[in-house]
Formats: sequence, C-alpha cells, structure tokens
Amino acid sequence: MRCGILSSRAFAGRATPLYGARVIRAPLPPWPPEPAVFLDLDGTLIEIAQRPDEVTRSARLDVLLARLPGATSNAVAIVSGRTVADLDRLLAPHGLPVAGIHGLERRRADGKVIRAPVALDWMQGARDALDRFAETHPGLLLENKGASLALHYRSRPELEDAVQQFVADLDLPGAAERLQGRKVVEIKPRQMNKGAAIRAYMSEPPFAGRIPVFAGDDVTDESGFVAVNELGGVSVKVGTGATAASWSLPGVSDVLDWLTEAVSGRQSSTGVPAA
Ligand SMILES: [Mg+2]
Repeated sequence: MRCGILSSRAFAGRATPLYGARVIRAPLPPWPPEPAVFLDLDGTLIEIAQRPDEVTRSARLDVLLARLPGATSNAVAIVSGRTVADLDRLLAPHGLPVAGIHGLERRRADGKVIRAPVALDWMQGARDALDRFAETHPGLLLENKGASLALHYRSRPELEDAVQQFVADLDLPGAAERLQGRKVVEIKPRQMNKGAAIRAYMSEPPFAGRIPVFAGDDVTDESGFVAVNELGGVSVKVGTGATAASWSLPGVSDVLDWLTEAVSGRQSSTGVPAA
C-alpha cells in the first residue's frame, strides 16, 4: 500500500546516503501516529533569501504553525542556526519551543530558556579576523550571533573558495567547529549541535515517548538526521546532496504540502515506502 494523496507525485525522494546511512526510500516520509516534530527553518519552512534578515513567512506556513501544536499534543519545535530572539521575531506570535544557534540556546516547552555554558574566549580574535576579511570583500555579511559567527557569501558566490580557505586557515581551538552551510560558513562551539538539541527535547515532555520527525536542508542538519534515525524516527532531507536522512523532499513547498496534509489527517499514519 502506498500512502495516499501525495504518492502519485513525481518527487520520489532518493538522496545520496552519507555516513553509511540507510538507503533512501520513496516516495513519502511517513507520519507517525504520535510524532514529535522538529523542523529547521531556512530552506525547510521558508525560502532562503539573499540575506538572512530578508526572509518572509508564507501564509501557508502561518496556518501550519497555528495547527501543528494541536496535531502533535504540542510536541513541535523549531531547530535552527538562528538565535532564539531571531526565531521569535520571525515566528511571532507562534511561541513554539525553539532551539537556536544549533542548540546552544534552547527554549523548552515549559518556556524555560537554556543556554549551553560555552567558553568563548577564542571568539574575539576570530571575529576581528572575519570582520577585516568581510570589510575588504564587499557583499560578504558577517553575522555575530553571540555564541557563534556566520560569514554569509550568498551575494558573492564567486568568493566561495576564498571564504572557505580563509576560514579554514583561521587559528581556532579544538573547542571551536567550522560548519559549512548553504552559502555560509559558521564558526561555533563544538559541544552542541542540532542532534543534541533534538535528543534534549526528546528527554522532556511533551516530546518524550513520541516518535521524532525532523526535516532540514543543510549540512548542519545532518547531526539531527543521525539522532532521529537512532531514535527510530523519520529523517527528511530537503533538497539534494549527500545525507544521513532516510527520506527526502525537493523543496520548501513540498515540505509545506507534506506537513499540511499530515496535520489534516489526510496522510496514512504509517506510510509505506515505494518498492
Ligand atoms: Mg536550513
């Protein structure tokens, strides 16, 4: 049996397995009967813009954000590289649990915000160096998130090699990690990632005991896919590329279709991969 409405669509998802991951199945990510839903934001629920402050929330997403909590017994959280403050600004008035800066700060379902204790003494030097680099390369955008630094080059894609080389050559301690995203390189404390944030949520109500679902589009989401796979959940890569996720969807509109039909109860509760 295939699951219903979407099964005839031609977006059967097969991504390239990464980290020895399972074979990607098609065509639809299944929707568990009692899901705990974790969603990346940029490139997953909203289209990526030239600058991170230029994104817009669609009316469809607005409806979805209003309905997801009721459809999941409030077990829904946004897991993003943005800060919690930025996520709240973008998602208002939907006061969902949110994990920001890849989990370095996280608001639980009970409203309490937890910030991972991190040593950031190395960051000032990195920030000064990145500042100087950005100043001499117009169009680059250095985003200071407090606990991480993100150098965006979406406006200067031809500088990708130069940006990556510069960041690779930065003298950083072992506690710092370089993360290559979509037209962005981020430097953050190594100790926290999206997988750890999802695991933390899964140990707390109302997420605990449910089946995790996680969708994301970027390399920074891979730790989340690994965690969700290990927890027996549903991992969904948005777009193409090597991934640990078990399922894939082509783009933002497909994610919104999938979620909308799931919260409407129109998708099979079990989901069956195509042969
Ligand atoms: Mg993303």
